[in-house]
Amino acid sequence: MSRRIYPREVIRKMSKYWNKLINSIEPYTAGEQPKPGQRIIKLNTNENPYSPSPMCKKALEEFDISLLRLYPNTDSRMVCEAVAEVDNVSPENVFVGNGSDEVLALCWQTFFEKDINTDKAVLIPSISYSFYPVYADFYSVRAQKVPLKDDFTIDPSDYCGKDNCGISIANPNAPTSIAMSLDDIRKILNANKDSVVLIDEAYAAFAEGYTSAATLINEYKNLIVVRTLSKSYGLAGLRLGYAIGDKELIEGLKRARDSFNSYPADALAQTLATAALKDRENFERNRQKLISTRNRVTKELRAMGFTLPDSSTNFVFAKPPSGITAESLYKNLKAKGILVRYFNKPLINEYLRISIGTDEEMDEFLKAVREEI
Ligand SMILES: *Cc1c(COP(=O)(O)O)cnc(C)c1O
Repeated sequence: MSRRIYPREVIRKMSKYWNKLINSIEPYTAGEQPKPGQRIIKLNTNENPYSPSPMCKKALEEFDISLLRLYPNTDSRMVCEAVAEVDNVSPENVFVGNGSDEVLALCWQTFFEKDINTDKAVLIPSISYSFYPVYADFYSVRAQKVPLKDDFTIDPSDYCGKDNCGISIANPNAPTSIAMSLDDIRKILNANKDSVVLIDEAYAAFAEGYTSAATLINEYKNLIVVRTLSKSYGLAGLRLGYAIGDKELIEGLKRARDSFNSYPADALAQTLATAALKDRENFERNRQKLISTRNRVTKELRAMGFTLPDSSTNFVFAKPPSGITAESLYKNLKAKGILVRYFNKPLINEYLRISIGTDEEMDEFLKAVREEI
């Protein structure tokens, strides 16, 4: 039996009380959070600029506080039923967690083999959600980065005919903002019947004309689709995400959950999430507003000489015109109280990821950009 080789050499032991794994990993770095009271325009973590559904507020006001005496329903049954309505699946096909980051983490633990047991790797796009390599290291799963095409799109054939122990892709992808079609997802699923294909749809609500991969779960037993209320419902602070898949996959996730924390979603979160899911009108209105602001910002940035793909998300991935680097623009905007996300990483360090705020916020952003270029 081969011994695990740690992902990164432990160059410096950070603490003698931490085990070898914790000394060696490099945790995910979230976008910076402003200090309380600081007035800034926050376009760096893809939060929704609009308040959650008024039905959430009502549910909060009506919430029976004595319910907090009791442990919540372990499966978040109410939420599963509401999701089932929205995504046209059965509640048995739904697994709820404390934000989709937790659901993703449980997927990595449940479906992907540890490297001590296999030589195979999980295929992930070379540029994608930066949590995937973190999970790989943390759960001792080998990950293999598959390069994107030069235009940042994913070529499905790059995921076909490659030995693997799983596939994890964000669709639409982040930070590129580009969506792959359902046909392309089918190609990947058809070529990988023996491993689980994880499609992370955190931004799917903002992809015009996109059909969720969740519509394919009855056809493909190896498909798990992960979604969240954080971005599209304006509920990042509530921490509620879910997976949709065949019952066999859902059962696996429950085994992992019940070996870690049987009550990932608290009683209040379950109640508010259910209310939000049921308010289709509010969801649709905010979704349309955001899409139209995004499309306008895309046009205006292009008119200023920025290069950016058409976005299917609530952010744009934009390269400033020659004359200013992404890094200096990021710094100059920050000095003006406007936070966007800059990744100091090869291939993407010429781009900024700019979350879409309200029309007013984006006007201030565009004005500040005009002064800088
Ligand atoms: C934001 C994001 C998530 C995590 O969302 P939660 O707030 O944990 O539900 C997952 N995947 C991608 C690609 C994201 O951008």
